Amino acid sequence: MHIAIIGNSAAGLTAARTIRKIKPSAGITVISDESGPAYARCLIPEILAGVRDIPGIGYATQQFYQDYDINLRSGIKVSSINAVNHKLKLEGGQVIKYDRLLVATGASPVQPGWPGSDLPSVFTLRTASQAVMIRKMAIDCASAVVEGGGLVSLKAAYALKKRGVKDVAVIVRSPHILMKQLDRDSAGLVENDLTSVGIKFYYGTGLAAAIQGPRGELQSVELEDGRQLPAGLVVIGKGVQPNSELIRNAGGKINRGILVNEYLETSLPGIYAAGDCIEVTDSVTGAQVVSGLWTLAVEQGRIAGCNLAGQARKYPPPLTRLNSAQFGSVPFVSVGDVQGGDELAVYQGAGVYRKLCFRDNRLTGFIMAGLVDRAGVYTSLVKQAKKLSAPLKDRLINGKVTGADILPILTRQGGIQ
Ligand SMILES: Cc1cc2nc3c(=O)[nH]c(=O)nc-3n(C[C@H](O)[C@H](O)[C@H](O)COP(=O)(O)OP(=O)(O)OC[C@H]3O[C@@H](n4cnc5c(N)ncnc54)[C@H](O)[C@@H]3O)c2cc1C
Repeated sequence: MHIAIIGNSAAGLTAARTIRKIKPSAGITVISDESGPAYARCLIPEILAGVRDIPGIGYATQQFYQDYDINLRSGIKVSSINAVNHKLKLEGGQVIKYDRLLVATGASPVQPGWPGSDLPSVFTLRTASQAVMIRKMAIDCASAVVEGGGLVSLKAAYALKKRGVKDVAVIVRSPHILMKQLDRDSAGLVENDLTSVGIKFYYGTGLAAAIQGPRGELQSVELEDGRQLPAGLVVIGKGVQPNSELIRNAGGKINRGILVNEYLETSLPGIYAAGDCIEVTDSVTGAQVVSGLWTLAVEQGRIAGCNLAGQARKYPPPLTRLNSAQFGSVPFVSVGDVQGGDELAVYQGAGVYRKLCFRDNRLTGFIMAGLVDRAGVYTSLVKQAKKLSAPLKDRLINGKVTGADILPILTRQGGIQ
């Protein structure tokens, strides 16, 4: 049996590893349009900051592919899938035949459409090679502008500052940064942290145009509100869209992402999909979402790998909102539904913020900023979604809960204390 995998990252590589363990005799080909072995995409801001290089964020070595007998075709794009004849066409015309296929094509940054956004000094940040290019350009750059207030934008802004760019401005259309993860108060703590290293924020506006200097080089940007900011380089972080076109063109079903069943099989029999390219149902909100999390891509890769190798495994609805980060001195964690709930418990101290969201006496989400002690305990309770006793709820609210407190909930069937 020959299994082909498109995408050599969190989902694709995990699937390949899983298949090899279950089915030692299977032929496995992994195809990626990025060159070289897999790397940890989450760590590319460290390349930008000059802290690591590409081998330093490696997720697999060349030796790994040999040890696991995986045929890696890197630096080449799959241009189409023929789902009837079980064939992939590569750019350049070569055809690869498969028995089963995994599409783990991830997502691509949303491209801006404003005048000048195609200049060479305007970047998105998704790949290690982009990070290398931005890092090179940042050496001679006194001012950089980052568009977007999400995690990737802020990681880019912080990395540019670390790299030594004097003026770094972040343009945020929303009322505060990290709208998906934080509320106004917790976002304020993170913003102060970033401001303290010299990053400036401009709210309620977006980029309108890039303005070129006499030699055609990027000189400044114009904001939608008419202001102009000096800019030697621009990084755009306006979100990502799933790479679903291969499945769409092959006749498969797509919504926002590739649609899969509980076994991660697409609507095309024998073709599975995993990672940032698929749409899943969030376990807390029930919403159909494209998750965009490394950990979930790995888990989906594992489940898809089992199914591809013939061991049927279901993929239950995951917790898709689960973020933690720390730029300077303020760590934060955001888990579950942090906007809703029928009962909120908020604690605010000096440099510390905690918000717990309950629905029907279940913990449905929380934010911690400044202090993230026991975030794992709270996360387990959001995942379990079980009713909480009054004493346990009190301990959660007071921040006194321990792992031992929740052990009965995690182990007991039914879980109501
Ligand atoms: C800067 C940054 C920071 C991040 N930080 C975090 C974090 O802190 N925590 C977290 O959970 N997540 C983070 N993420 C998100 C995380 O990296 C992704 O969720 C994860 O990489 C998804 O893995 P994947 O395997 O689904 O797809 P991807 O990692 O996107 O890989 C898909 C691969 O398939 C290739 N491909 C696509 N189409 C084709 C084709 N037609 N032919 C051949 N190859 C193709 C792509 O080029 C790519 O190499 C971050 C992402 C970025 C960019």
